Amino acid sequence: MMYKCTNCKKTVAKLEENIRCPYCGFRIFILQRPEVVRRVLAR
Ligand SMILES: [Zn+2]
Repeated sequence: MMYKCTNCKKTVAKLEENIRCPYCGFRIFILQRPEVVRRVLAR
């Protein structure tokens, strides 16, 4: 999972209980799903 800081808009990839932005120390994040590339076998 990826977390996007709502303050500095940086993406943090960390899974901790007390997650905090390492850049600005902000603690409110938007949960972002990593882009999942799905390949469908066309056959
Ligand atoms: Zn931040």
